[in-house]
Amino acid sequence: DPRLLPESLRDDFPILHQNVHEGRPLVFLDSAASAHRPRQVIDAIVECYSHNYANVHRGIHTLSERATDAYEQAREKLRAFLNAEHADEIVFTGGTTAAINTVARAWGDANVSRGDEILLTPMEHHSNLVPWFQLAERTGATIKHVPLTDDGRLDVDRMGEVLTDRTRLCALASVSNTLGTINPVKTIARLAHEAGAVVLVDAAQSAPHMHTDVQDLGVDFLALSGHKMCGPSGVGVLYGRRELLAAMPPFMGGGSMINRVYLDRFTPADPPARFEAGTPPIAGAIALGAAVDYLQSIGVDAIHRHEEALIDYAWERLQEVPGIRLLGPAPKFRAGLVSFVMERPHPHDIAQLLDFDGVAVRAGHHCTQPLHDLLGITASTRASFYLYNRPEEIDALVGSLQKIGDRFKPSGRKRKRKQ
Ligand code: PMP
Repeated sequence: DPRLLPESLRDDFPILHQNVHEGRPLVFLDSAASAHRPRQVIDAIVECYSHNYANVHRGIHTLSERATDAYEQAREKLRAFLNAEHADEIVFTGGTTAAINTVARAWGDANVSRGDEILLTPMEHHSNLVPWFQLAERTGATIKHVPLTDDGRLDVDRMGEVLTDRTRLCALASVSNTLGTINPVKTIARLAHEAGAVVLVDAAQSAPHMHTDVQDLGVDFLALSGHKMCGPSGVGVLYGRRELLAAMPPFMGGGSMINRVYLDRFTPADPPARFEAGTPPIAGAIALGAAVDYLQSIGVDAIHRHEEALIDYAWERLQEVPGIRLLGPAPKFRAGLVSFVMERPHPHDIAQLLDFDGVAVRAGHHCTQPLHDLLGITASTRASFYLYNRPEEIDALVGSLQKIGDRFKPSGRKRKRKQ
């Protein structure tokens, strides 16, 4: 398939070249939980700690200046990656969760009050639910949800039913980490803005896989995690529109986020420093910049097309597994991940048995318990793809699932087959 990325790209990822369980080649289909990093990113971490590391924005010495330059260059790389207008709209955080909590505290406490409404979706990750529940508890605001269609997409036609003049915020994932649905963020942002609400996008599952342009999307805040996009864990980004960040009080207090501290009070620094209290993830941010360089050297659009080809193939092949139920919409509405349940084996057992064949997947509720409640299940198994995955690995998944299906087949049916 000409759309598939070159096989040689796998050589960049040392961790993929290993066997598990007595000589089974690793088939890694769990990148939605956390992806792997190429040696270019690992090298950037080694280079930083070996030659250019010191605390940033502080020391008047060579290493600190080098580290500060590299850290600020990484900010500029993330600005360009997201097409933000200004580098000071990029805040380095600990990840998506930390970014969303920053907005919930810093923006939420200042802008949301009793009777106001926070509009979410039923397919959100817990990290885009719980901070808003906590905000609602603190303020007396109400939580509402955009309705879903039967196949697991947001029902945009019904936005009018849930948007009101009390809607202060609409927070949604651009890609669902369980259903794989790609949500129409641009349309929803326009409708939410027309109602006077601010829009936050949880881009944890989209930024690694498809082109992200915060200006074109027209969103106010966007959160992402480094570890899902070939970068290190422990670092992420909060994008915030300049006017909004400038009007927000700081959430976490400490060093670096101040302009001046007196015995009994302080004045805050300007963004982004205002939201980067303490020593930031220095090497992490620098390596995230290297991850952006790597993704751009391959081309984010090429990565997206590659994953579209993989999900088309997976969708077709997985139907061959008896008793499987695939969750979420048809491939044309989804990104490169698929969750499923089988008639008999529990999702955890499926993941365990797949692991014996070398196939790594995720099982559980994937931090989307409310969505699983709506689907009438407690857990599911999820296979997720990234730039380094190949069609053969989907064959391995399907082959192993067929064996599992046979093993758990009700005995009556087995006998029938044999006749
Ligand atoms: N949102 C979505 C959609 C996710 O998939 C994840 C990670 N599973 C998160 C938020 C949380 O990201 P992190 O744990 O890196 O903060």
